[in-house]
Amino acid sequence: MKYFIANWKANKNLAEAIKWLDTFLTFPISSDYSKVVICPPHPLLYPVKEKIKNAKNIYLGAQDLSSFGEGSYTGEVSAKTLSGMVDYVIIGHSERRKNFNENDELLLKKTHLAKQFRIEPIFCVRDENDKIPQEVQFIAYEPIFAIGSGDNQPVQKVLEVKQKLQLPKQSFFLYGGSANKNNASSYLASPEINGFLVGTASLDPLEFYRTLAQE
Ligand code: PEP
Repeated sequence: MKYFIANWKANKNLAEAIKWLDTFLTFPISSDYSKVVICPPHPLLYPVKEKIKNAKNIYLGAQDLSSFGEGSYTGEVSAKTLSGMVDYVIIGHSERRKNFNENDELLLKKTHLAKQFRIEPIFCVRDENDKIPQEVQFIAYEPIFAIGSGDNQPVQKVLEVKQKLQLPKQSFFLYGGSANKNNASSYLASPEINGFLVGTASLDPLEFYRTLAQE
């Protein structure tokens, strides 16, 4: 089983999201092989959920969650609010670390809250030096130079970093950084790599589908 996480970031409005799904949902997805997680901006979670409710092997994820619990935190989206809505949440993306000063302590809080509300964290690391909270099962390794640059990191180097991360056996290791239909097969051939976190190539439904349908 390989995981394909679509990180739409701060892209798309409602009409664009629906159009994306209307196209993507016409493509056959091999249920033995692929698990897709779509991570739209928060306001689009519910409409996307409605569209995928009868789709096999397509799940919903949030791109972030608040480090605060329920309460007086205007503008925040808590783990409780997301619970029952999403199955996964991206935590620790390098864009959040950089633009919103998210540090290890804050990411640990977010991870605990996600777990408490039965949302599976997809925890992003930039290199082998980033701390991974103990309860994390899904790790997305995303070297900064490769994100959005078209310069993906070759599989051999990715595997070297994986080894240095010393992940527990039962964890799922994803690669992110300019993964697309042209380079996906080398990663997918490795049993050590359990899938991708995809940014740019997830914005177009056919590009994203071609990333996962490599046969
Ligand atoms: C990302 O930001 O998570 C990412 C992998 O982006 P891209 O695929 O555009 O490199």
